[in-house]
Formats: sequence, C-alpha cells, structure tokens
Amino acid sequence: MLDIEDIRKEFPILESRIYNKPLVYLDNAATTQKPKCVIDTISNVYTTMNANVHRGVHHLSQVATIAMEESRETVRKFIGAEHSHEIIFTRGTTESINLVASSFGGTFLKAGDEIIISTMEHHSNIVPWQLLQARLGIKIRVIPLTGNCKLDIEAYKQLFNANTRLVSIAHVSNVLGATNPIKEIIDIAHSHDVPVLVDGAQSIPHKKIDVKELDADFLAFSGHKVYGPTGVGVLYGKEKWLEAMQPYHGGGEMIKRVRFDKTTFNELPYKFEAGTPDYVGIIALGKALEWVNRIGIENIATHEHELTMYALEQLRRIPALRIFGEPDGSAISFLIGDIHPADLGTILDRLGIAIRTGHHCAQPLMDYLGIPGTARASFAVYNTKEEIDILMQGIERAVKMLS
Ligand code: PMP
Repeated sequence: MLDIEDIRKEFPILESRIYNKPLVYLDNAATTQKPKCVIDTISNVYTTMNANVHRGVHHLSQVATIAMEESRETVRKFIGAEHSHEIIFTRGTTESINLVASSFGGTFLKAGDEIIISTMEHHSNIVPWQLLQARLGIKIRVIPLTGNCKLDIEAYKQLFNANTRLVSIAHVSNVLGATNPIKEIIDIAHSHDVPVLVDGAQSIPHKKIDVKELDADFLAFSGHKVYGPTGVGVLYGKEKWLEAMQPYHGGGEMIKRVRFDKTTFNELPYKFEAGTPDYVGIIALGKALEWVNRIGIENIATHEHELTMYALEQLRRIPALRIFGEPDGSAISFLIGDIHPADLGTILDRLGIAIRTGHHCAQPLMDYLGIPGTARASFAVYNTKEEIDILMQGIERAVKMLS
C-alpha cells in the first residue's frame, strides 16, 4: 500500500492554490509534476558539476559525463534493454519517432514500401511518416478500430504484404487511456519479419515495460511524462537496427573522423547524439526513474487503476455523459451532452481543477469518433479519490451552469 499523502509531500507544486482553491492536477497525460529530488538534481548539477560532457579531460567534465552515462544505465535497466548503447537520448517521444522515420526510412525504405500505423495515433506518430511519404513515396496503411475503439487485430493482420517494412503503434492511447495488446501486435509483425516501433509515451509512466520480453525493435518515450524534466526523452533500438541505420543529425560528438572528402561516424549510442546533449535533463531523468523504482511501478499501476475505476464509476452517474473507449488505468476522455469541452474545462479551471480539452493531437481519431474534441482527466500516482470527488462536484456545477 502506498502512502499517497507522503508521496504528495515530495511534489512542491501540489501545494499550489489556483484562484484560491487547492490545485487538483488531472492533466498528467500531457505532463507530470516533478518530485523534489528531480528538481534538486537540476539545481545540483548546475551548482556542483556543470561542464560539457564527453569532451573534457578536466574533473568537472568527467563527473558530468559519468553522471550522464549512469543515467543511460538507469534507463537500460528500467526498460530491460540488453545494452546501454541501445539507449539514445533525444528531446522526447516526438524526436525519437522522427529519428526512426528519418534514419530507418533513409536506410531501409524506398518508393512503394509500406508502413502500418493506427487510427488512434498521436500526431507525432503520423506526421513523421507523412513527411517520409512525401520524401520517398512510401505508403501508410492504417489499422481501423472496432466499435469500442479497440484496434481491429483481424484487419491489422490483413494489412501485411510483401512491401510492409515497419509497424509503429502507441502502446497506450493518450485519448482513450486504453492499453493496446502490444505483445500480440509485435508477434504478428515479427511473423512477417517486420520490426515494430512502440510509442511508449503513455505506457512508460504507468506500467512495467521490458523491451526484451516484448521483443520490441524500438521504444520511444518522453522524460516529462514520467516525473522527469522536459526536453529529454529516449529512443531504445535493437543494436542490429541502430548499427545499420544512417545517422539522424550531423555535428559534433556523432563522428569518429571528419575530413572534407570523407567523414566516419562514431559508435553507438553517440552516432545518434549529435551536439551537446541536455546532460542536465538526462541526469535528472535518471533520478526520476530511480524515484519511480523506489515507489514501484507495479504499485503506481495498481493505484492508478483503482483511481481510474473509481472515476469511471462516478462519471457514469452523470446523465448524458459519454466515455470514449475502455480506459484501463491512466486517462479518461468524455463528453457531456452537447456541452463544449472547452467550456467545461474553463469552469473547472476556475475551481482549481486542471483537465485537458481538445483534440489531444489525435485529429484522425476525433474524425473517426465524429467529434471535435473531448474533455480528458488523466492520473498520476499522487492523485487521490478525494480529488476525483472534487472533479465530480466541479462537473456537476459546470453542467448546471452550462445546460
Ligand atoms: N505519443 C503519445 C501517445 C503522446 O501522448 C505524446 C504526448 N502527448 C507524444 C507521443 C508526444 O510526446 P512529446 O510531446 O513529449 O514528444
């Protein structure tokens, strides 16, 4: 059993008052708040060890480099990767997916090749492939959904043909808060010798992920959604793919030898980490994952599942409230009658309650659902049933004002 009150004390921002009401922060799918140990790490790195990594013989540079590489090792263990050089630090999920689109695409794809994504993807797992489509002439195939917003696995199986080169799928939808059967999706792709990129932006904060057990070829996630700092994320890739893939960005650190007539590239992971990395953010991300390990990802999952089930039970009592999909532990998207979600969100905001409204960067899913957007409440380990009660009171009040 977690002591949520103790956990909350580690998050200074949770003591804020918004319009003189206690903050009820239910926008965790957009970004999580940060525990004090992560905030302090950022300050400590600048105060005690700031120097550019990898290039210096001097003491501070070596200390900073060691701390950054320890963080890589923390990430490796966190996701169960075989080698730490399979962990590439990026700016976040978006950059990780763009890296794969550009480098995997540039190395392995040609006109007429096909990739598979799904109807429920975030724009960051759609647009990079469209850019590649414009560049190379590849085809994008889209897995349809069944009536209750689940991936249509039978239709997915039918999308494979001799030209299929990659599957790129969200593990958990940021709109529906539902977990896709990622192991089954990977196994089906592998039976066709097709690799899979898992968008783990919404799963890494909420469930144990072991890339070896899943046999995922790539995994992308963002630090800021898992109690870490903004501006830093991860791409995991199997060594065999990363070795073969051309670099993404060119610049310092990613090279072995530069001549005007020929440049050779550095080894993994540095081949994909051009320029000065956000080593401060990377070190703080390591601290965030250590924090998650201390609380226990299974404990986090259990608590968030309980919260979600409680919130669903309460929400279903509200007349004319529609829930989209079958949320199982991180986020709930809903609409009430013909109330515009932005109006609902604005009234809740005045009560100190932060939810997100809009299309959630998933316009094709909104088109499929035939709606412009939803209201979304999303949970983290520090949320409580009392906060959900406050949300319900807020919704009831908003409904009275708006109907
Ligand atoms: N994929 C999913 C499923 C997401 O929820 C998000 C963030 N909302 C992203 C990708 C993009 O993450 P970031 O903006 O941190 O790069």
